[in-house]
Amino acid sequence: MLQRAKVLHAPIKTKPDFGIPLEVSKGIFLLKMPIPFALDHINLWLLRDLDGWTIVDTGFYCEESIQIWEDVLSNFCQRETIHKVIVTHFHPDHLGMAHWLTKKTQAPLYMSRAEFLTAQQAYQEPTPAQTLARVEFYQHFGLSEEDISSLIKRRPSSEDAQLPATYWRLEAEQHLDINHEKWRVLSFAGHSPEHLCLHLVSRDILIAGDQVLPTISPNISVAYSEPDANVLGAYLDSLLSLARLDVSTRVLPSHGVIFDGLQERVNDLRLGHEKGLEQIRQFCKQPRSGRAVMEEMFGTRLSVLNKFLAVGEAKAHLNFLMAKQELSLKEATVDQYQII
Ligand SMILES: [Zn+2]
Repeated sequence: MLQRAKVLHAPIKTKPDFGIPLEVSKGIFLLKMPIPFALDHINLWLLRDLDGWTIVDTGFYCEESIQIWEDVLSNFCQRETIHKVIVTHFHPDHLGMAHWLTKKTQAPLYMSRAEFLTAQQAYQEPTPAQTLARVEFYQHFGLSEEDISSLIKRRPSSEDAQLPATYWRLEAEQHLDINHEKWRVLSFAGHSPEHLCLHLVSRDILIAGDQVLPTISPNISVAYSEPDANVLGAYLDSLLSLARLDVSTRVLPSHGVIFDGLQERVNDLRLGHEKGLEQIRQFCKQPRSGRAVMEEMFGTRLSVLNKFLAVGEAKAHLNFLMAKQELSLKEATVDQYQII
């Protein structure tokens, strides 16, 4: 999540402006939207679809997004039919405006089942049992009471993303016909449970969502609700699958610039995680808490958001080594990890 990548080949020289669609390939338009946190923007995609449009990802739910969509739908899209709204995964910058958009345009929402169901849970008020499980997760990790109370307050809410009650299911290896072209649906775990990417095979274009990004490593986090999940293993597997796509594949990511050189980027991301794993192997020669591992990997001066991400990311690396049976775990009030 924190390292920067080498400069990749960025074929589109025009810088997009917020709210002004930019054609990046025939019939494929990038719509850059602001988001009110660290990443600054999200890239959404408008695909020409016969007499109308298909939209991929929707933006964070806020007044600014509403104004941009009002403008884009009436001026750029000329109030033509929106055939589909597709959401790659449940995070609020991707899903946030889905309810508003589908209500406004009467378009059906397309998502994967795991993302739809995860969203149903993620944006609801947590039950007392869920809050308790989350507190215990952080206690076992070794966080201070102060950190725990600030992290517990940090949670998505129904104000970040208003979710439609129904959806159309997309799953891996389906094909979508958009403007008489076949888009292959790919799905991957790691960043989120069933994240969708869309691959236009005939033109080697990949709408990648957050699964692969040009300059930052997507956050790979373990959630309290599945504390032993090997999400890093799943993510590294997804990188292997992506690396098998054609070398000429052009990547349309959700954050940052469009780039060529998928295999090179995948390799960098893989090496970044390998570096983190090696750091843990060295550091855990003696018993260490999750928190100590997190501070070794990411430092101690972290904002609440970065701490939230760093806890999940450190746990993902620990769980990976546990699954490989390279680490032992001594469960206690604060769990201790040690290399075997
Ligand atoms: Zn995401």
